[in-house]
Amino acid sequence: MNISLPAKNLRTKNFLIKDGILYLRYGQSFEDVIYAVTYYMKGRRRCYYCKKQFSRDKITMDHMYPRDTGGPTIPQNLVPACKSCNGKKSNMTYNQFLAFSALTTAEEKRAYRLSVNAFKEGLRSIGMFEIPNTWITPIKVSEIHTRIDFANISEKKYRQQKEYYEKYHQFQRPIVLDRNLYSLDGFYVLFVAKSCELKYVPAIVLDNVEIRRSSSEV
Ligand SMILES: [Zn+2]
Repeated sequence: MNISLPAKNLRTKNFLIKDGILYLRYGQSFEDVIYAVTYYMKGRRRCYYCKKQFSRDKITMDHMYPRDTGGPTIPQNLVPACKSCNGKKSNMTYNQFLAFSALTTAEEKRAYRLSVNAFKEGLRSIGMFEIPNTWITPIKVSEIHTRIDFANISEKKYRQQKEYYEKYHQFQRPIVLDRNLYSLDGFYVLFVAKSCELKYVPAIVLDNVEIRRSSSEV
């Protein structure tokens, strides 16, 4: 799939877009780059939900399909939101939050939140994500390249992913890969997949994103 990007060539201190491709430096944080691109396109002043204006430091990034049931960090899944709206929306999807916001009593809202969480647990128990199916492609584990920073490996994060997989037989989120199948997000998922000797993992392949292997290439 392609992520949404500004149409013109752009070079900022955070990212480079050339001929429709977003380039990252090898060691760059994917999340930082995507946030910078998203703020560039969607602004960093107005909350997407309440439409009010805020100073830049009061704006956060909301995942419309939340992280906890698979929502990826890509511009079409992100909107700038004030801390209050982001907090109220919490782990609901955009559509769930609209329905929730239309409710008037605290009792109704509490019941709705419980039903959302029950629904999520149901999805997990059958190994489903709550994102469009068209975003996901199964990719062979052996074909994925990792950007590894051994100094930063966290045993705790690895264990969390492993426990999640053992409980649900599914990962919390698909792995996110660039067009050459370099991992952008999901390092620990890949680690767990390898340790469980899985052949395939669910992935979101970004056909218009590329990690630059050396500074001379672009
Ligand atoms: Zn707001």
